[in-house]
Amino acid sequence: MTSVPRIQLNDGHSIPQLGFGVFKVDPHETVRIVSDALEVGYRHIDTARIYGNEAGVGTALAESGIPREELFITTKLWNTDHGTQSAFDAFDASLERLGLDEVDLYLIHWPSPKGDRYVEAWKALEQIRESGRARSIGVSNFLVPHLERLLAETDVVPAVDQIELHPAHQQPATAAFAEQHGIAIEAWGPLGQGKYPLFDVPEIADAAEAHGKSPAQVVIRWHLQRGHIVFPKSNRRERMAENFDVFDFELSDAEVQAITALEREGRVGSHPADVD
Ligand code: NAD
Repeated sequence: MTSVPRIQLNDGHSIPQLGFGVFKVDPHETVRIVSDALEVGYRHIDTARIYGNEAGVGTALAESGIPREELFITTKLWNTDHGTQSAFDAFDASLERLGLDEVDLYLIHWPSPKGDRYVEAWKALEQIRESGRARSIGVSNFLVPHLERLLAETDVVPAVDQIELHPAHQQPATAAFAEQHGIAIEAWGPLGQGKYPLFDVPEIADAAEAHGKSPAQVVIRWHLQRGHIVFPKSNRRERMAENFDVFDFELSDAEVQAITALEREGRVGSHPADVD
C-alpha cells in the first residue's frame, strides 16, 4: 500500500497530502466512484454540502470497512449558511449525510463578501471545533483581506486555505500570506479542471517524457514538491490510479522552477468576490 506523506497542520493534526476530490461527481455515481478511489488507495476525500454527494461519500466509506482513523474527510459550509445557527444546523446535516460522528476538516466554502457574514460563520466553526466534531477547521477561497480580518477579529487561525491553484494560477500573494501565518495551502483545480491545455505545455510535457510519467503525474508531483495539499478528481478508475502513482519519482529543482514560472493569473474558476 502506497504511503501518502502527511502535512502537519497548525493545530497539531495532520492531513494526507494527496486525496480525492468529488466536485461534479454525480450523486448517483458517487458510491461507485468513491469506492473505486478507496480501492485505489485514497484515504482523504474532499466533498462539500453544495456538491450534493455527501450521502454517497458516506455510503462508500461505510461499505469500504476501512477503519475511521485511517480516513480523512473534509466537507464545507455553503454560503447561505453563514449565520451562527444556520452553520450549526448545516454542520449537523452534513455529518448526518456522511454518516459520521466527526469530520477531520470543516471549511467555510467561500467568503461570500457581499453577505459579509464570514466572521460570524468562522466563530461558529470555532465552536464546532471546540465540541470535538470537527478536528480541524479552515477556509476556502479566502484572499488576503479575508484572512486578515479573521486573524484580527477571531481566536483560531485557519488550519488551511483551499484556493484555486495550478501552474497558470498560483495566487502568490495569498500563498505567501498563508505561509507566513502557518496556514496550509490546499490547491483546488490542481489540474486546471481540464479547462486549459496544461498538459501540452513544453515544461510539463518534457518533464513527463524525462521521467517516463504522464503530464498529469508531473503536475501533481509539482504540487507535492511545492508543499500543496491536493485532491485531483476523476470519474475514471485508471486516472484515479494514475493520479495516485506519483511517489516513485522526483522533479529536479530546475523542473519545479520551470513549472512555477508558468504563472500567468490564468484563473479557470470563479473569483471569490463574485460568489454569493
Ligand atoms: P481538477 O483540476 O482535479 O480537474 C479534474 C479534471 O481533470 C477531470 O474532470 C478530468 O477532466 C481531468 N483529469 C483528471 N485526471 C486526469 C489525468 N490523469 N489525465 C488527464 N486528465 C485528467 O479539478 P477539480 O475537480 O475542480 O478540483 C479538485 C477538487 O478540488 C474537487 O473535486 C473539489 O474537491 C475541490 N474543489 C474545491 C473548490 C472550492 O471552491 N473550494 C472548487 C473546485 C474544486
